[in-house]
Amino acid sequence: MNTKYVLVTGGAGYIGSHMTLALLDAGAKPIVVDNLSTGIRSAVPPSVPFFHGNCGDEALLDDIMKNYDVNAIVHFAANIIVADSSVDPLGYYRNNTGNARALIDAAVRHRIPHFIFSSSAAVYGEPNTAIISEDHPTNPINPYGRSKLMVEWILADVAKAYPINYAALRYFNVAGADPIGRTGQSSVKATHLIKIAVQAALRKRPGMDIFGDDYPTSDGTCVRDYVHVGDLVQAHLAALAYLRREKENLICNVGYANGFSVQEVIEVVKNVSGVDFEVRVQNRRAGDPSRLVASNRRATEMLRWSPRYDDLKTIVRHALAWEQRLLVDQL
Ligand code: UDP
Repeated sequence: MNTKYVLVTGGAGYIGSHMTLALLDAGAKPIVVDNLSTGIRSAVPPSVPFFHGNCGDEALLDDIMKNYDVNAIVHFAANIIVADSSVDPLGYYRNNTGNARALIDAAVRHRIPHFIFSSSAAVYGEPNTAIISEDHPTNPINPYGRSKLMVEWILADVAKAYPINYAALRYFNVAGADPIGRTGQSSVKATHLIKIAVQAALRKRPGMDIFGDDYPTSDGTCVRDYVHVGDLVQAHLAALAYLRREKENLICNVGYANGFSVQEVIEVVKNVSGVDFEVRVQNRRAGDPSRLVASNRRATEMLRWSPRYDDLKTIVRHALAWEQRLLVDQL
């Protein structure tokens, strides 16, 4: 493992905090920048240099990069709620696209050779195949997906013009928590399906809603490919090794090539928790494609990614354990 620093933006957030721990576990040296808009300071171990600020703040970035020998940036900090992006597109373009541009600019100014970007399956839009490979056309159907795709384009252009290579990892639906309970999804304003369902199982909310049961899927509810956050961050470590080894760029899906409907996910949560809760069918939510399932051939072949938690029950068990832990912390 390279002994230079790895700058993690959004390192106090859900995925970023798992990444920070994974870097430490691998013997690497993370530094975190986080504006704590959704992240939590205590999610970052005290031994990790922490900067409270905006990942697009030029002066802050210059300061960090002058003081630390940063070899790679892993950029998580972003707004992630698809429905919100339709209500506040300018906010999403500022935070997701504008800040990424400023961060990439800082990487180039300071000659940081490697950049890993949190992209999303949302760049594909409504797919025309059951399993989506990276060669599938990109045609996002919401501002969130477009805010991410624009950053992929910026990176492609920048990597041609300057000495930097990049990986854009297109996440499918990230869920679960650290298997040994060090961190998890803590944000107060939960919108993601598994988090909502485990909260319903723990009676933190009075049941839950299904957003649409008239999609062209087997039971009418949307199908997604749920990937354990622990496997996701391992894909980032593999991507970092790839960038250092190959000197090439990489666009790569991260998912299990396994689709579950909203209805199926809710059943698994009820089974794993042993709790029945009320489920109400509502209208469709804006910007939801009916089915998003990854091909992960590229991840397994090029990154040699071998997932350890490819099992929906395990994902739900870990999400539930973390949510229980948050309940205890509130006492
Ligand atoms: N969903 C739902 N009820 C909820 C939250 C989500 O029916 O309370 C559905 C949502 O409409 C989508 C799927 O679950 O079809 C996954 O949504 P999520 O917000 O978890 O992730 P996204 O795919 O939007 O990134």
